Amino acid sequence: MPIDATLPYDDTNIFARILRGEIPSTRVYEDQWAVAFHDIAPQAATHILVIPRGAYVSWDDFSANAPAEEIAGFVRAVGHVAREQGLVADGYRLLANTGGHGGQEVPHLHVHLFGGAPLGPMLA
Ligand code: IMP
Repeated sequence: MPIDATLPYDDTNIFARILRGEIPSTRVYEDQWAVAFHDIAPQAATHILVIPRGAYVSWDDFSANAPAEEIAGFVRAVGHVAREQGLVADGYRLLANTGGHGGQEVPHLHVHLFGGAPLGPMLA
């Protein structure tokens, strides 16, 4: 069920629990600003989620409220993961579902990183 992206941050969400190490994930990268792990239900040959360590509900919350240094660190981390995964030469796709119409299910900002094979014009 998609979330209401205007609600306050709820630190019981599943990605907050992954950040705290309370539930397992297959981490591929982490640094001061971000953690990246494989999506549990991949929709592409490579499907990784990159999340900020900070408590942001959505892209809207993050873009409006995160300090510039944190935004820069997170954006650099996303690019780093794509390069580290070897996705640059053939290309990749980033997606940040936001709120109800965006189909966002988990109320902690996450950027989907898709690649590894041609993706077609859109993902469902
Ligand atoms: P959203 O629709 O943009 O919010 O995407 C949420 C994503 O989180 C979906 O692609 C899910 O498959 C993924 N997901 C949900 N729970 C887990 C988990 O525990 N580990 C990894 N990915 C998850």
